[in-house]
Amino acid sequence: MRATRTAAAVGVLTVLAGTSACGLDGSEPHTVARKHSLVIGVKEDQPMLGFKRGGTYEGFDVDVALYVAGRLGVPRDRVRFRTTNSSVRESALASGAVDMIFATYSITAKRKTQVTFGGPYYVAHQDTLVRADATSIGNVRDLKGKRICEVTGSNSWRRVVEERRIAARPVTAPTYGACMDDLAAGKLDAVSTDDLILAGFAAGRGVRIVNAPFTDEKYGVGLKKGDLEGCELVNRAITRMYQDGTAARLLDKWFGKSGLKLTTSVPQFEGCS
Ligand code: GLU
Repeated sequence: MRATRTAAAVGVLTVLAGTSACGLDGSEPHTVARKHSLVIGVKEDQPMLGFKRGGTYEGFDVDVALYVAGRLGVPRDRVRFRTTNSSVRESALASGAVDMIFATYSITAKRKTQVTFGGPYYVAHQDTLVRADATSIGNVRDLKGKRICEVTGSNSWRRVVEERRIAARPVTAPTYGACMDDLAAGKLDAVSTDDLILAGFAAGRGVRIVNAPFTDEKYGVGLKKGDLEGCELVNRAITRMYQDGTAARLLDKWFGKSGLKLTTSVPQFEGCS
C-alpha cells in the first residue's frame, strides 16, 4: 500500500515537472520543448528567407520558425528573433544566446558533432549566380580559377573547393548580402550557394542563376546539442506543417514567383542525435 502511494506521488511529481514551463528553481529548462519564451536565430540580410526590414524580421525561415514555435506552445509575442550569421551559429547555440536556429542551416556530418538538428524542414540545392553578362560560367566546373565568395562559417565554398576539388579562388565575406555587394563591385566572379538564397537575391540586380544545381542542402533546425526531446517535438511540428498545407502555402508565398521547382512533400528526417 505504502509502496503504491509513493509510486503514485512520484508519478504526479514527474507529470508536474514535465508540464511546467520552468524548472523547480524558476529557471528555464534546457529543452525547447518546455520554454515559456524562445530566442530564435535567423539571418537578417537574405531576402525571402531571413531579412530585417524596419526592425522586424521576415521570410520563409522566419515564418517556419513562428509556426514551429507555435506548435511548441510559444506564441508569436513570446518569440524574439536574433540575427545569427553563418560564423556564429554553433557558438550561439552552445552559449544559449539563442534557443533554436532557422537560418538556411544545412545539416552536415561535421556540424552534427556540435549541434542537434531537427528536420530538415526543406531541402535546397546549391547553384551559382553570376553577373548577367558573364556567359563563360555555365556550371560548377566553370568556377575553376574564378573568384567565388567564401562566407565565414558557411559550407557552400567548401562544396566547390573541398568536396569537388575545383580550384576556384575563395574571397571571404561576412554574409551573403556582402557577397552580392562584392559581385556588383567586380570583386567576385560568382556567388555559389543554395538556390533559395540566390533566388532571394536575384530579382532586379542584373544577375543570372546558371541553373545547374549540384547538391542537396538539408535545412535543419539547430538545437542545443543533446536536446533530443525538443528535436522530436520539432520534427512532429514540421510533419504537421506539411500535412496541414502550411509548408506549401509558405513556399508559394516566398518563392512562388521565383521560377524554382518547389517540393511540397515532407522531407526525409535525419533523426535526432
Ligand atoms: N546552407 C549553407 C550552409 O549552411 C549555406 C548558407 C548559410 O551559410 O547560411 O552552410
